[in-house]
Amino acid sequence: LTRLYGPLTALSNVRVDVMSALVSFQRVFEVLDLQPLIREKPDAKELPEGAASIAFRDVDFHYPGADEVSLASLEDLARPDRSDNGRQILTGVSFAVAPGELVALVGPSGAGKTTTATLVPRLYDVSSGTVEVGGVDVRDLSASSLADHIGMVTQDAHLFHDTVRENLRYARPGATDEQIWEALDRAQIGETVRRLESGLDTVVGERGYRFSGGEKQRLAIARVLLKAPPIVILDEATAHLDSESEAAVQRALDSALEGRTSLVIAHRLSTVRRADRIVVLEDGRVVESGTHEALVDRGGLYAELYKTQFQEAGVL
Ligand code: ATP
Repeated sequence: LTRLYGPLTALSNVRVDVMSALVSFQRVFEVLDLQPLIREKPDAKELPEGAASIAFRDVDFHYPGADEVSLASLEDLARPDRSDNGRQILTGVSFAVAPGELVALVGPSGAGKTTTATLVPRLYDVSSGTVEVGGVDVRDLSASSLADHIGMVTQDAHLFHDTVRENLRYARPGATDEQIWEALDRAQIGETVRRLESGLDTVVGERGYRFSGGEKQRLAIARVLLKAPPIVILDEATAHLDSESEAAVQRALDSALEGRTSLVIAHRLSTVRRADRIVVLEDGRVVESGTHEALVDRGGLYAELYKTQFQEAGVL
C-alpha cells in the first residue's frame, strides 16, 4: 500500500506546490494591482523618470482566445465561461491624456471602459494600433519601468495575509513607518489603523483582521500614495459602500489624483465636472469627447447619461 500511496502522495504534493506557487505569484501582482505583463522585448526600454502622458492611437482589441493564453490571462483561465473571447471589444479607440491631465472614461455598462484602462499597464496587448506611455509604445517598455510609472486603484483591492506595514510596503519597498503613516492618513484610513491594538503590525486577511470593503479600498489608495507614480488609473465605482465611507474614499481618491496624470472610470458628477476631457465610449468606440459643459450642450449620449446616472449619483 505504501508503495502505491507513496508516489501518489508525492505527486499530489507537487501539484499543491505548483498551485501555491502560481497563487502566490499572482497574488504579488494583485497586490500591486497589476498582473504579469505580456512578453517583454529583449531590448526593452526604460521610461525617463516622471514620464506621464498616455495616448491611444486607433486601438482595436479583442480578448485573447484559448490559443493565445499567456501568463497575463491567468484570470481568464479561471473563467471558462468566456466562450466569446474572439469578439472585438474596442474599435478604433484614440484619445490622449497629457501630463497632469484628468481624463474621465464614461459610457454604458459593457462599453469597454475597464478594458481600455487595463491596456495602459499592458495587462493585455492590443490587436492593432498602439497604446503609448511617455510617448513610447508600451510593448517596447520594460515591465518594471511600466509598473513603476502606473498606480491602479480598482474596485476590489487585494490584501494578503501579512501585516498592514508589509501590505503597504509592497508598493514601495523600504518605506519608513513615517511614510506609511503619512500615506494612511492621506488615504483617510490612518485613524482606523491607529485604533487597532497592534497598529501597523496588525495582521490582515482571512485569519487576521478583516477590513471592510471601504477600508480595503482606502488601503489600496494608501498604496498608490506611497508609490507616488506619475500615472494613476482609477475605477471610481464604490457601489457597495455606505455614504460615510464613500465620502472618506472620495477624499482619499482626490488626494491620490492630485498633480498626477489620471485616467478615471468615472461614476461621480464631481469627477466628470472637473475632468479636462471626458471620453465617451459606446460599444467599444469613442462616440464623443469634450468637457462636461460642451458635452451637455451637444445633447448626445453623454447628456443622456448625465441625466440618468450622474445627476442621481452626484446627490450624495
Ligand atoms: P462596466 O461599466 O459594466 O464595468 P465597461 O464599460 O467597463 O463595463 P468592460 O468591462 O471593459 O466594460 O467590458 C467590455 C466587454 O468586454 C464586455 O462585453 C465584457 O463582457 C467583455 N469582457 C470584459 N472582460 C473580459 C475578459 N476577461 N474576457 C472576455 N471578455 C471580456
